[in-house]
Amino acid sequence: MELPAAYLARMRAQLGAEGYAAYLAAMALAPRRALRVNTLKSAPEELSQLLGAPLARCEGAADGFFLPEGVQPGRHPAHLAGLFYMQEPSAQTPAQLLDVRPGEAALDLCAAPGGKAGQLAAALQNDGLLVANEVSPARAAVLRRTLERLGARCAVVTAMRPDALCAALPGAFDAVLVDAPCSGEGMFRREAQAVRDWSEAAVAACAARQRAILDSAAAALRPGGRLVYSTCTFSPEENEETVAHFLRAHPDFSPVTMRRLYPHTSPGEGQFAALLVRGGGGAAQAV
Ligand code: SAM
Repeated sequence: MELPAAYLARMRAQLGAEGYAAYLAAMALAPRRALRVNTLKSAPEELSQLLGAPLARCEGAADGFFLPEGVQPGRHPAHLAGLFYMQEPSAQTPAQLLDVRPGEAALDLCAAPGGKAGQLAAALQNDGLLVANEVSPARAAVLRRTLERLGARCAVVTAMRPDALCAALPGAFDAVLVDAPCSGEGMFRREAQAVRDWSEAAVAACAARQRAILDSAAAALRPGGRLVYSTCTFSPEENEETVAHFLRAHPDFSPVTMRRLYPHTSPGEGQFAALLVRGGGGAAQAV
């Protein structure tokens, strides 16, 4: 796979010589497939028995395990029954950071195909409310099927524009996840199309769209509520700069923590996630 020269130059500047070499070495390896045990329906020991193989835990992903060699997940009855969901480990970080608890009302604003929404329903233990929204009706249909398969009885699926949805439900949620559409730099090892689609202009366009989506999300959160903004890309424009833009426009929000995962620093493909609180006094802390 040949990565765009402009992208590589950005990464070299961003990571420094040592980090860049480690990143390139990680990118030369085949990605390992991983799953999340759906704790609404199963447990690691049971799933291991059903798959007929021991499950190796993914560091940093609470319910994440590497897919055992030889298992064809899509055809396995345990997959059809919703006992697990194929999800790379770093993609579990945003929902973990949001830390929803049973009884809460949560909103997943950009939810299809439903990996993180399923995780939020599991964290709620089906006790509370999950509004899983996806602007594209076709993708919302996929989201609905995912949540049905996973047994997410606390979930309602909507297909609205983020600004319209959040304006209609002011202050309604304890927790909001904005897992924004992005330039997908963290997908490069797995999706050749993401590499082909990448350009400086695409990064700028994604950043503008992200700022608008995140801006909408503010209204839906109750005072004291938690907001996680996440992407699977590495450009600062789409990550720290989007968060900084949001904080300038919404001084009632405070940053609590920001995480940047790369394929050379943690299991999986890479992720950015920032936790903000509305009306809180948390100090920013890079982890
Ligand atoms: N959270 C999902 C998961 O874990 O499975 C992945 C979400 S994906 C990164 C971003 C989603 O945002 C896509 O489903 C895409 O259709 C949607 N999207 C694209 N443009 C959007 C927009 N302008 N407003 C809101 N959502 C948008």
